[in-house]
Amino acid sequence: MNSTSTWQRRSDAQKKRFAKYAVWNKGKQLSTKTRRKMSISAKTRKRTPCTEKTKKLLSASLKGRALSVEHKRKLRVATLANPNRKFSNTKIEQKIAAELENRGLVRNIDFFQNFGIADIKNVDFFLPQQSIVIECDGCYWHSCQLHYPNVRQEYRKLDNITAERLKRAGYSVYRFWEHEINQSANACVEKCYNEKKLLVISKEAG
Ligand SMILES: [Zn+2]
Repeated sequence: MNSTSTWQRRSDAQKKRFAKYAVWNKGKQLSTKTRRKMSISAKTRKRTPCTEKTKKLLSASLKGRALSVEHKRKLRVATLANPNRKFSNTKIEQKIAAELENRGLVRNIDFFQNFGIADIKNVDFFLPQQSIVIECDGCYWHSCQLHYPNVRQEYRKLDNITAERLKRAGYSVYRFWEHEINQSANACVEKCYNEKKLLVISKEAG
């Protein structure tokens, strides 16, 4: 990767122009009033929006850059904290939610959907009483071995790493494939139910 970014590289014509400007402006004393005016102007100036070409150059210059672990962590925290983040509520998620509700669990008390856990991940379902995490993995997007064994393998690896992190943090992680949920959402939820004996907080409270 180049040490200078695309937008920092100047053409020869630009260099000439800047050199002229530098000479003309050298040693010029600006009054406090002027400096304040320049400062306000710089802060409030409307920027010309990037053209498509510039956007492409910017994106190309950022591609392939290595991010530090700390940088990645910061990005993850920022994503989870973003109030404008869009959440998907897929059909398989709706099926699991319906099954949980069938068993008397109340949304936002007994179970939470699209719940951000620490700075690890936004999980599909979180059941706080038993620290259960339920993930509904789409066959295509998460590359299921049965239907899409050779696509998006990288995604699968990331899923495994995230699940490991959640387990180490003390959560019981249940992951179900789209095809499993479509076959029987009941059987999927029953699995967590039998293993962990799901507790219903709302009923205990009421
Ligand atoms: Zn599948």
